[in-house]
Amino acid sequence: MLKNVRYAKCVKCGKEYEATPNTTTCECGGILDIVYNYDYIKSTFNKGVLSLNREQSMWRYRPLLPVEPDSAPTPLRVGWSPLYKADNLAKALGLKTLYVKDDGQNPTASLKDRASAMAVVKAREAGATTIACSSTGNAASSLAGNAAAAGIPTYIFVPSRAPKGKVAQLRIFGATVISVDGSYEDTFELSKAAIEKWGWYNRNAAINPYLSEGKKTVTLEIMEQLGWQVPDYIALSVGDGCTIAGAWKGLKDLYNIGFIDKLPRLISVQAEGCCPLNRAIMTDTPWQPMEENTLADSIAVGVPRNADKALMAIRESNGLVINVSDDEILAAMRLLGRTQGVFGEPAGVTGTAGVKKALELGLLDPDSTVVSVVTGNGLKDVANGIRAAGEPMLVKPDMDALLSAFKANGINP
Ligand SMILES: *Cc1c(COP(=O)(O)O)cnc(C)c1O
Ligand SMILES: [Zn+2]
Repeated sequence: MLKNVRYAKCVKCGKEYEATPNTTTCECGGILDIVYNYDYIKSTFNKGVLSLNREQSMWRYRPLLPVEPDSAPTPLRVGWSPLYKADNLAKALGLKTLYVKDDGQNPTASLKDRASAMAVVKAREAGATTIACSSTGNAASSLAGNAAAAGIPTYIFVPSRAPKGKVAQLRIFGATVISVDGSYEDTFELSKAAIEKWGWYNRNAAINPYLSEGKKTVTLEIMEQLGWQVPDYIALSVGDGCTIAGAWKGLKDLYNIGFIDKLPRLISVQAEGCCPLNRAIMTDTPWQPMEENTLADSIAVGVPRNADKALMAIRESNGLVINVSDDEILAAMRLLGRTQGVFGEPAGVTGTAGVKKALELGLLDPDSTVVSVVTGNGLKDVANGIRAAGEPMLVKPDMDALLSAFKANGINP
């Protein structure tokens, strides 16, 4: 029994379930949210206790996480990624204060490691011997890596469009990889059928209520790294919606235990070619499926699996919703790289592209303090890196050739 957790509650119908390691979705089809016993947490946990904790990973927040006290943490170091004060980028954008949280520095190079590490712990608690998931790429590679380190085999379903870097990770981590010739939606449905057939532990974010609890550690960290000074906005790219829902959950947890005294507003950023959640907010209508028409593969999610939680998070935070074009995403890749030395994959920089656009549209006060989360590393998808920044000049190995190449490219050393 988890002392810090009361139960899992359906976000649709409100039905309560005991929070067991195998808890999935409500009988009504709704997704579950883990509800904590904040009085118990407050009785054992405070800022002083936290500051004495030398653990530098997401597991430093165990009192706020739904894991058994005697569950071993996962072997890879997940979380405690750097929060940079991004003055160069802030200046380029005309924004007073900007921080960049580089979650591409996780062990498998994306924020998804936070959810996958949680999945591995819960799978062990459930006594599972095999874990499976479907993913646009990063959930897969992070599960494969974190499970490999824990000695648990994985079955991974990815759409065939997944970038090579991510597929290479899966193969290297020894997963059984099923590359599905279809959309993410098709991939998800096939994984669901296979999981039902073979009874594997399910790491699909829509079905497993613990994953957003892992992801929430990103905002727990941001707030601790900021010395509990609450920013005005936190910007995130959104696909299934599990990340933004988790980010909001972390903030509310901190508010409920008195670590912070107000809540920031979320900025939900999606690609113009695939923005079902932002469109639902903008038009104030229920979300509708959309085409998956963007180069930002990690957020090319036409049927978002955590729609209810994500929409609730955006609305509760009085959030902004911003859609950006693929060109704006590529421009943000260059800008982050050139001003801050941070290389994000397309979906990784989409939040930053949204901050830029919100400023241009006058939706964001330039005097604000903003945290932009970079959710995945650019080395996962070098093709789009080159697409964003171009090929280098090619020269023969002599000085004359170098001089004429410099001239042709307008370079004056
Ligand atoms: C998964 C992912 C996202 C979006 O997270 P969701 O939970 O699907 O909304 C954003 N960026 C990257 C790099 C991702 O891998
Ligand atoms: Zn329900």
